[in-house]
Amino acid sequence: LLSFLFWKHRYNRKVQYSAQIMKMFGIDLLSPSRSKHNTLDKWEIAKENVVINRRLGEGAFGMVYGGEAQLSPGAWTAVAVKTLKSGQTVEDRLDFLSEAEAMKKFNHKNIIKLLAVCVQSEPIYTIMEFMLYGDLKTYLLARRNMVNEKTTDESDISAKRLTMYSMDIAQGLAYLAKKKYVHRDIACRNCLVNAQRVVKIGDFGMARPTYESDYYRFNRKGVRKLFPVRWMPPETLTSGLFTPSSDIWSFGVVLFEVISFGSYPYQGLTNNEVLDYVKSGNTLQIPIGVKPQLKGLLKACWTQEADKRPNALEIIDYISNFPRLLTPCLDWPTAIQMSEIES
Ligand code: ADP
Repeated sequence: LLSFLFWKHRYNRKVQYSAQIMKMFGIDLLSPSRSKHNTLDKWEIAKENVVINRRLGEGAFGMVYGGEAQLSPGAWTAVAVKTLKSGQTVEDRLDFLSEAEAMKKFNHKNIIKLLAVCVQSEPIYTIMEFMLYGDLKTYLLARRNMVNEKTTDESDISAKRLTMYSMDIAQGLAYLAKKKYVHRDIACRNCLVNAQRVVKIGDFGMARPTYESDYYRFNRKGVRKLFPVRWMPPETLTSGLFTPSSDIWSFGVVLFEVISFGSYPYQGLTNNEVLDYVKSGNTLQIPIGVKPQLKGLLKACWTQEADKRPNALEIIDYISNFPRLLTPCLDWPTAIQMSEIES
């Protein structure tokens, strides 16, 4: 009897697991209505309702395109379409779709919205809201040379705007924490800017080649995974554990990226050196020009004990007291990527 029960338990778990995988493909094996009709995911739209018209960038799994989608009859919306390039393994397909699966649960002004998916035929698409100015890192890098120009509060790079960008990210983080979701890859390259200059957190996948040098390849027991070491706190580098507090450490690094207009953290150190440096209790250096109130926030985000770091709600409260907290700071070295340093 015991061995029968044990077998039954394992069998049920296997069924559940396969069902979960099939659900990602748009097939709900466990749906009670499945026997009556073929249940398509409610996010699925027909490919005829998607028009692709230009390339936006290269993603981890394939090209990201700009275009339009008809999400309700007669109404076309500007969208970004992520595609999975052909010839990918089942694992790649699952990884690709896992980002969309995560995004289905979110609805917040500072989180990129998933709008639809097309998974019934190759190549599969995930369709997201269109962010006119692309990722925040590229956006800031492109605006470096404007720093010495006279700016008003309305300028893209005024202290007020930089503070708003960081506030947007903090709001997105607070929402994710409320949803009990740890992002694990908070960095400017993963935040996007829309036509109204609202910044939203995107990239719920973890591992992409767009800025491959930002990721460090751990290779333990044959497991190859990319990790964004320069954005990771000491406890994550040591234990591999990601928590809401590790997202807060990364948020501190994002603040550094924002005020330095996309500079590369720990410039001049190799990934291995960064690992040792941070694990020995060091943090990014705070330059002299930074406002004392921002210095306080950076230090708080980079507190060694994870549970003593502020949470996202406390950060929002804090930033709202200083509408011009983030002043441009170009004392930092220019943004050279690791690939230019390492051969
Ligand atoms: P992946 O997560 O598959 O690696 P990314 O999210 O990094 O892909 O996307 C690659 C590039 O495509 C980004 O750097 C950005 O320039 C562009 N992109 C991605 N999503 C959008 C979007 N929603 N709107 C506009 N551009 C986007």
